[in-house]
Amino acid sequence: MRGYDAIIVGARCAGSPMAMLLARRGYKVLVVDKAAFPSDTISTHLVHPPGVAALRRWGLLDRLLATGCPPIDTYRFDFGPFVISGAPGTPDSPVAYGPRRTVLDKLLLDAASEAGAEVREEFTVDEVLFEDGRVTGIRGREKNGKAVVERATAVVGADGRNSPVAEAVKPEAYHERPPILAGYYSYWSGIPVEGAFEVYSHLHRGFAVWPTNDGLTLVVGGWPMAEFEANKKDVEGNWMKMIDLSPGLAARLRAGKREAKFVGTPVANYFRKPYGPGWALVGDAGYNRDYITAMGIMDAFLSAELCAEALHQSFSGTRPFDEAMGDYQRARDERVQPIFEFTCQVAKLEPPSPQMQQVLGAAHGNQEAMDGFARVNAGVTSPAEFFSPENVGKIFEAARTR
Ligand SMILES: Cc1cc2nc3c(=O)[nH]c(=O)nc-3n(C[C@H](O)[C@H](O)[C@H](O)COP(=O)(O)OP(=O)(O)OC[C@H]3O[C@@H](n4cnc5c(N)ncnc54)[C@H](O)[C@@H]3O)c2cc1C
Repeated sequence: MRGYDAIIVGARCAGSPMAMLLARRGYKVLVVDKAAFPSDTISTHLVHPPGVAALRRWGLLDRLLATGCPPIDTYRFDFGPFVISGAPGTPDSPVAYGPRRTVLDKLLLDAASEAGAEVREEFTVDEVLFEDGRVTGIRGREKNGKAVVERATAVVGADGRNSPVAEAVKPEAYHERPPILAGYYSYWSGIPVEGAFEVYSHLHRGFAVWPTNDGLTLVVGGWPMAEFEANKKDVEGNWMKMIDLSPGLAARLRAGKREAKFVGTPVANYFRKPYGPGWALVGDAGYNRDYITAMGIMDAFLSAELCAEALHQSFSGTRPFDEAMGDYQRARDERVQPIFEFTCQVAKLEPPSPQMQQVLGAAHGNQEAMDGFARVNAGVTSPAEFFSPENVGKIFEAARTR
């Protein structure tokens, strides 16, 4: 017996939109999570303009605005000798937001429930069930320990980078890279950052600041994995030593008040084949890159949209499962591949190459070029486009005639 069209394991940035989009199409959807919502998770939470555009498409942006989360219209990159400051968005979606995960994930889950998806919180999936090599359902546990079996046409792992669904289905992995960076973050009061995402680059150190809900400011920073073991003995001391590399910011932090403990974790970089008989993967379960470029939430949204469309095509009989899901994988990979490479490079926290320094030096003061660089870092423009010989030629030419 197939109880549901889809069972979705994980109810955050990938799982809840997935459940919402399928339920809005009229499918019978169960979404489960071992967490109770609202709940936090280890993640900073800049949502770039394409992620904000997805919230608007889904009719959820007004709900986010109603939480008082301030907009971010400027990305400011302090490279020491010069600063590149530009607008990250497009006319349709001009700003980013930094909503707390307690706010964002709850809003998404409520939207899934309103769309008709059945939601079970504090429900832990222990096992993915197979019949003749095909996934047919899950075995899980409710909060009180009661064991439950549920069946579905498709089981979707939206269960994050340590995905139990991926562990069970053993997808092919590619472009794998071990963790590159170890980062930690906390929240401050009393250090307002008006509408800006501020990034500071130093040799083997990088940190960033942006506003979030409740008048708080998030500050995140880190060092290469090679220093992870040595520095974890005194995260706070090493972290403040890092911030002291930018004395202006250090003074602001010391004048404010830290409101939470430091948290953080290194993450691996990988792509996983996101489908197979009776199963699919979305969000971090299927693809992950270092968080230095803050792309994960936006990527989770966009992969959920692609995967929901592919499952709809398969469920409705419009296209065979493998064909529709193959397109999902191709579209996901084509969009993220250039930014994946860019992210892995930036996460090394090495000085920009001499070539890159020349381009950024020439872009400095050229607002159009600085906006272009901000849009690369916002996932709006591909690095391949921004650093193309044609665009770089234009930037050098403008610098010569300034
Ligand atoms: C330190 C750090 C900073 C980051 N900063 C940013 C940033 O600024 N901007 C950005 O866009 N991204 C950032 N990211 C990445 C972002 O957090 C992820 O890309 C995003 O959370 C992916 O969403 P997801 O829904 O795929 O997975 P997750 O958010 O990991 O959600 C997975 C869910 O699955 C549930 N689950 C797992 N196993 C089971 C089980 N067996 N049974 C039931 N439920 C289960 C979990 O409880 C969890 O709620 C950061 C990540 C880290 C680690």
